[in-house]
Amino acid sequence: MSGDSGKVYLVGAGPGDPELITLKGMRLLREADVVLHDRLLNEELLRDLKAEIIDVGKAPGRHRLSQEEINELLIKKAREGRIVVRLKGGDPYLFGRGGEEALALRKAGIPFEVVPGVTSAIAAPALAGIPVTHRGISTAFTVVTGHEESGKEKELDWHALARLGGTLVVLMGVSRIQENTSMLMDGGLSPQTPAALIERGSWPDQRCVRGTLGNIAERASLFGVRSPAVLIVGDVVNLERHLGRRRIAILRAESQLDESVRLAERYGFIPVAAPSISLTALELPTDMEDRIERADCVVFTSSNGVAIILSRPELMDLIRKKRVAAIGPRTAQALSERGVNVDVIPDEYSSRGLVEALRGFKRVLLLRSAQGSPELLDGLLSSGAEADDVPVYDIKESEDSRLDDLIRRAELIDVFAFTSGSTVRYLMRRAEELGMEDHLRKALDSALVVAIGPPTAEVLREFGVRVDLIPERYTFEGMLEAARTEIEVRS
Ligand code: SAH
Repeated sequence: MSGDSGKVYLVGAGPGDPELITLKGMRLLREADVVLHDRLLNEELLRDLKAEIIDVGKAPGRHRLSQEEINELLIKKAREGRIVVRLKGGDPYLFGRGGEEALALRKAGIPFEVVPGVTSAIAAPALAGIPVTHRGISTAFTVVTGHEESGKEKELDWHALARLGGTLVVLMGVSRIQENTSMLMDGGLSPQTPAALIERGSWPDQRCVRGTLGNIAERASLFGVRSPAVLIVGDVVNLERHLGRRRIAILRAESQLDESVRLAERYGFIPVAAPSISLTALELPTDMEDRIERADCVVFTSSNGVAIILSRPELMDLIRKKRVAAIGPRTAQALSERGVNVDVIPDEYSSRGLVEALRGFKRVLLLRSAQGSPELLDGLLSSGAEADDVPVYDIKESEDSRLDDLIRRAELIDVFAFTSGSTVRYLMRRAEELGMEDHLRKALDSALVVAIGPPTAEVLREFGVRVDLIPERYTFEGMLEAARTEIEVRS
């Protein structure tokens, strides 16, 4: 923009999730000539902007620009006739020194406007399942800073805060949590008062550590909670049990992840996708067509096998003329989506169920993974059938970095969903390779462990992992449903 003076917009960026900026804030970012932002900003917000972008953020102990320098820079850029967005975390006027910047601009005669933002003081607890007020529990909330600059202003009377009632929200509260919680207790607040710390609210690695006023400082250091985090004290914290979303680790192969993530979200979970296995299609025997011709039933035990086999049109044509069995509804769906009629689905979606359902067929062709359970083959043979077991794909350890991330932060997971024995084996193996087996075992011990069916549960037990749940229906959706119900019962 040209003209003698530009304008400065003090824009709240929200707590971290880029979608939590306001529409006005986003529009101004796109229109701006210059953007000045802080350290704790989601880079996503700065993507594809035409503006000159200046990071004025202050890393702790390493001041890049002083507040005075920031004020001067704002004034200078505006005097050049530019539209300047000063992007600040959360809301600009809550502990963000936005007011000081506004005053400096006023003094310099620069036009400015504030664009309020979603503050972490309310949003971080909300996203963790804690409303700051709640009918019948708390009719007021007080927001304070836990880290006052000594000598700068009148000291906070923590004893008075303790008598205030309602909810207390402490920002910048990690480093002095011990002193501050002690003062609240000295002031008469019960050590039993529920308290929680919400770290990096709205970021993908958001974490909520719950406790009481008496032990939250200790728990903060136990869990290594770091800034930015909001401390919240009061009975509303108890609502987290009912309103907090739970994280579910999904360990399936890449090909099934997207669908699984969507399903998990629909069931109210925060999905953490961490493929522990990877699938590779194997070369099929050259006489594959003859083998299909010979069979009187073709059996699929996963949608992966279906996708691989039916990507070959000549095989698809032959299979369409055959009787076809699927181990469960998802495999059946994969078949019917590709125009193959399914004749057999067992009552129980397992190898055992299949053996039962396939009684009466003489020549059975199994198209499945090279690591398929021996139970199916043995069962068929001992019931007198001829079984041709063709490995269609290999299950290997995944090299996906998300698996490592999951293991490192396993303590954040509320539910582990194991969809096959190999997801168990490769997760454990990877944890061992990383030297983090104990860490993972501890996390498994305090989480809800769900196995898709009895054979998977068996593998978990072999590894010494307690199995909490096996759904009635041996499907991924069955697992989600069972886990959700269990969590509701427990809370
Ligand atoms: N103006 C900001 C607060 C700035 S003070 C706002 O309205 O949110 C910085 C403090 O805000 C941090 O020390 C922390 O207590 C809190 N904070 C900022 N972002 C946060 C987040 N995503 N999760 C938890 N706390 C956050």
